[in-house]
Amino acid sequence: MDLNAKLTILERMVDIYDQVVGEFDLACGKYCDHCCTANVTMTTLEGYRIHAHLEKTDDMHHLDTIARLALPGRYMPGVSLNRLADICARDGDPPEEHLNPEAGPCPVLADSACPLYPVRPFGCRCMVSARNCGETGFADMDPFILTVNDVFLQHVEHIDAKGYTGNFADVMQFLESDENRQNYAAGRLGAAPEGLVANQPVFILMIPPEHRERIQPLLMQIRSIQV
Ligand code: SF4
Ligand code: SF4
Repeated sequence: MDLNAKLTILERMVDIYDQVVGEFDLACGKYCDHCCTANVTMTTLEGYRIHAHLEKTDDMHHLDTIARLALPGRYMPGVSLNRLADICARDGDPPEEHLNPEAGPCPVLADSACPLYPVRPFGCRCMVSARNCGETGFADMDPFILTVNDVFLQHVEHIDAKGYTGNFADVMQFLESDENRQNYAAGRLGAAPEGLVANQPVFILMIPPEHRERIQPLLMQIRSIQV
């Protein structure tokens, strides 16, 4: 599948996700930024979409900001989500993850607003809460939304199976290089560089038994996306 087809699928997945999650009563709103941390992760496909958006809107200065403000304590995943699902399904030992909740704000957050909002990755889009996190100190997420999130994140990785996953700042810095972007677009990426991890297709979806029936229409909707 070529890159344009993958980007089109990603756009449709965003529409489906917003429609599904939009049916829940959420406290999320503009200038609510407690979830905008330096720990957000994403795939190269989502990073490529952001890079293309920045080029189109002549907002490339955000790349300098990301490079300048990438915080050293940011979360860097040890394996991708599909790999993790695989390891857990086989009763293996997933690598230890070090996520520092005090890592600091997302490097592009400005005046409590996201300059990339329309093209923000699923890692950001999936952060929703029924109550304001600033008041509760945590996200109050319906368990079904958690399952929906995993299903979307796993499918995004699946369509980007030849790409990488990493911290938002690391993926953007990787894609800042023309050579890396060209190799990515041509499907010529090799082993993941330091700080990023290889994606893989979905072998097992992380759906708890109580949601298996309820999630079926959504799975069919995702799988019937045609490009
Ligand atoms: S997830 Fe929490 S912090 Fe983020 S927008 Fe929603 S209510 Fe605000
Ligand atoms: S990319 Fe935007 S939505 Fe995501 S964490 Fe950063 S500021 Fe928040």
